[in-house]
Amino acid sequence: MSSSALAPEWLTSPADPNDLAPGVWPASASRDANGVLVIGGVPATALAREYGTPVVVIDEDEARSRAVRTRDAFASAAARRGGDARVYYAGKAFLSAEIARWMVDAGLRIDVCSGGELAVALAAGVAPSHIGFHGNNKQVWELERAVTAGVGTIIVDSLIEIERLAAITERLDVTQSVLVRVNSGVHAETHSFLATAHEDQKFGFPLSAAEEAVARIRELPHVRFAGLHCHIGSQIFGVAGFRESASRLVELHERLLAGGEIPLLNLGGGFGIAYTRADDPSPIEELAEGIVGAVADECDARGIPLPTLAFEPGRSIIGTAGVTLYEVGTVKPVRVQTPDGERDRVYVSVDGGMSDNARGALYGAQYSARLASREGMDAPALVRVVGMHCESGDIVVDHEYLPGDVTPGDLLAVPATGAYTVPLASNYNHVPRPPVVAVRGGSARVIVRGETIDDLLARDAGLDTETGLAAGEGEG
Ligand SMILES: *Cc1c(COP(=O)(O)O)cnc(C)c1O
Repeated sequence: MSSSALAPEWLTSPADPNDLAPGVWPASASRDANGVLVIGGVPATALAREYGTPVVVIDEDEARSRAVRTRDAFASAAARRGGDARVYYAGKAFLSAEIARWMVDAGLRIDVCSGGELAVALAAGVAPSHIGFHGNNKQVWELERAVTAGVGTIIVDSLIEIERLAAITERLDVTQSVLVRVNSGVHAETHSFLATAHEDQKFGFPLSAAEEAVARIRELPHVRFAGLHCHIGSQIFGVAGFRESASRLVELHERLLAGGEIPLLNLGGGFGIAYTRADDPSPIEELAEGIVGAVADECDARGIPLPTLAFEPGRSIIGTAGVTLYEVGTVKPVRVQTPDGERDRVYVSVDGGMSDNARGALYGAQYSARLASREGMDAPALVRVVGMHCESGDIVVDHEYLPGDVTPGDLLAVPATGAYTVPLASNYNHVPRPPVVAVRGGSARVIVRGETIDDLLARDAGLDTETGLAAGEGEG
């Protein structure tokens, strides 16, 4: 019986539905003699026993080595062109104190985009001068906190924000470096990019309005214009979109040089990762070479110095380091009518879902999955892994082949869940958010504690959380 008509074109039935596709899993992922998935030297079964499921497992060496590799790739690409490059880890992908420290150890700086993320970075001991602060509607208290803490750069997003910053820096009598976020009209995603005169989105100044913003900043005694910033999208595989955007940015950068020196140019993040075996992201060294080369060529052609370049990857550093473990609760074949006749799709329900990984429900993101507690024996069956929430869009892995003997009690691992899962987690259906556990060299430790139902009840102001009774109950 073939279920192929239900599978998307990019997904083919694997020869071995227990294999671990290279590039999708952390480099340390393997199976032990019993077929148990091992990450960072720790068996999935041991992790589930100790921490329960779901649990988000972060391979610390994978995160650290990707950070180092990224920093080296951009630094050496820039050095080959006689320049310099900085790498900021985009904290919005997943920030915790531990992760911030790993990034600092690797020589990265940290980007934040809220007062909360800023608080984490500062509490983790990140040097304020190595923090960049983003956002299209930073609150006045957030700007004040950032300026007071001495963050290295604030990326300004509107004329109103420039005036707010002018008032704050004047009142505090400090000078703040800023970058001007530009909307280059280029939006890129995976294999394609769109280049228009004006991109229809909320971030940054259109190219045509950036000069006015820079001119205003240059009038201000306490705000220093340090350069332009642009971020063209996410999960991008090639350099073409970056090249187009860089060319537009360098043209503007050159015009602005008439008004004074510009030390920096920040080209954002957005480098893609493999979520399934169908994804083929370029190595970061290739991207770095291509993007830095494009900017350097553009500067050479214009006879202007190459500014210090900055990049802000999030997903490409932390995404592949994460693997989420779930326990299978139910397995249910569903007959589906297709143009080629009836087919079976096996629905595999796990003990988490859109509350710990919203990306499927939010973006239709594709993932892959493998049995983690054993190797399956049966031939591959087309499955859809779904969560436990009261929502039909609660899909964890839309299309995958798993061994046909997948059964309740099996542990299921979903790779590439390190980025944009924990930060987007919710308590939908009053489901507590899972713990995050770092694994390395055969040992594991919690880096973000999981929630309990008591944690959730504690927020409910209609309950007396001391006694566990409803407010008003048990009085008099
Ligand atoms: C989201 C974001 C990033 C990081 O994007 P990734 O796709 O995770 O690399 C970098 N810079 C800015 C301004 C962003 O908004």
